[in-house]
Amino acid sequence: MSLVDTAAVKRLADWDGERLERLAAEYGTPLYVTDHDRIRENFERFSSAFGFAHVMYAAKANTGRAVIRTLYDAGADVECAAAGELHRALAAGVAPEDLQYTAVNPPDADLDYAVDLWEDAPELTVTAGAPMTLDRLAERGFDGRLSIRVNPGIGTGHHEKVATGKDAKFGVPYDEVADLVDPARDRFEFVGLHAHVGSGVLSADLDEHRRALRKVAALAERIGDMEFLDLGGGFGVPYRPEEPPLDIEAAAAMVREVTADVDATIAVEPGRYLVADAGALLTRVNTIKETPQTRVVGVDAGLTALVRPAMFDSYHHIRNVTGGDREAVESSVGGPLCTSADVFCTDRPIPRPEAKDVLAIGNVGAYGINLASQFHSQPKPAEVAIDGGDERVTRRRETFADLTRLEDEAPGDR
Ligand SMILES: *Cc1c(COP(=O)(O)O)cnc(C)c1O
Repeated sequence: MSLVDTAAVKRLADWDGERLERLAAEYGTPLYVTDHDRIRENFERFSSAFGFAHVMYAAKANTGRAVIRTLYDAGADVECAAAGELHRALAAGVAPEDLQYTAVNPPDADLDYAVDLWEDAPELTVTAGAPMTLDRLAERGFDGRLSIRVNPGIGTGHHEKVATGKDAKFGVPYDEVADLVDPARDRFEFVGLHAHVGSGVLSADLDEHRRALRKVAALAERIGDMEFLDLGGGFGVPYRPEEPPLDIEAAAAMVREVTADVDATIAVEPGRYLVADAGALLTRVNTIKETPQTRVVGVDAGLTALVRPAMFDSYHHIRNVTGGDREAVESSVGGPLCTSADVFCTDRPIPRPEAKDVLAIGNVGAYGINLASQFHSQPKPAEVAIDGGDERVTRRRETFADLTRLEDEAPGDR
């Protein structure tokens, strides 16, 4: 079980360089490339380790229609944490009974949408993280499948901004959950407890993660009589080439062990784990500038294409696809935006980048294209799916006309 499984991670070096070079030439840059075989492999590995659990894909990691479709076809149900995600999952062909909706400070329009959906599809489960959300659901006539999100007061993960388990924003405070359940049983079909406590959990974080999950499991044991205990996602992937992958068998064994005395179906909601290493972002070098401090490498992807380095200080590995054999030189790679946050790395040794080279940025399949924006009037990148030898555009490149479209369509100011 602890044998190193080389298939447990797809490194940037494992991508076919000739193919990436050709895709960049054919479809232009910046270009997201998503490997759907890899998504299926990740789902297979995850769901065989978690054979005892109900596995849902947390769609916010990558809400692309093609990605949802691939995971749904592979057997995953879909967890949506916004009504817009419900809309997108339905558009991808997911049946409403295979959806779950987790409401976080839900706007009225989101609750209206979810309750409308439930009226046609009573199998929909709604998760609420605040007592007032229960009231707002009841006001709308909702009396269907309801779960309550627990805040265990412990969070784990790669960055403060994702350690949801200790952030008061998420879930009902631990000590108040039990008192909420009996009234909820009267008003709704109470089906379970939910907790999503962190993100980017790797092997070194498993003990702390276990503490948080154990605490939630103990509450489920105490409350009893529920259909499921949903322990959320958070399973991490290695972003640095030397980092070992999460031992997913060990993670599954841990979840199984902490829930051994819970008399309910165990559910999990991986997002990042299923899609992160299935994505690469291709970008082309347009400007080289030698400075006394560093070699400045200007590329056509900016923080608007991939915001994780600017937002979470995330490391993303960068490969010189065109000139991989060259000697490494310290390089600072940055995009076309007029802000100092627009850098992917500073003084990092990379095989000497030259103008017109194609660079690949790794592990962008999760929280990549979904966080893209039009800030600084940057059209969003295109996305190509590769699937064995096949490839197809799954999202067309935005154009300058897309930047002004919504204003063109506005009734007033022209
Ligand atoms: C974001 C999210 C997930 C998935 O988190 P990952 O770290 O990508 O696995 C699961 N459940 C909920 C409710 C979420 O908001």
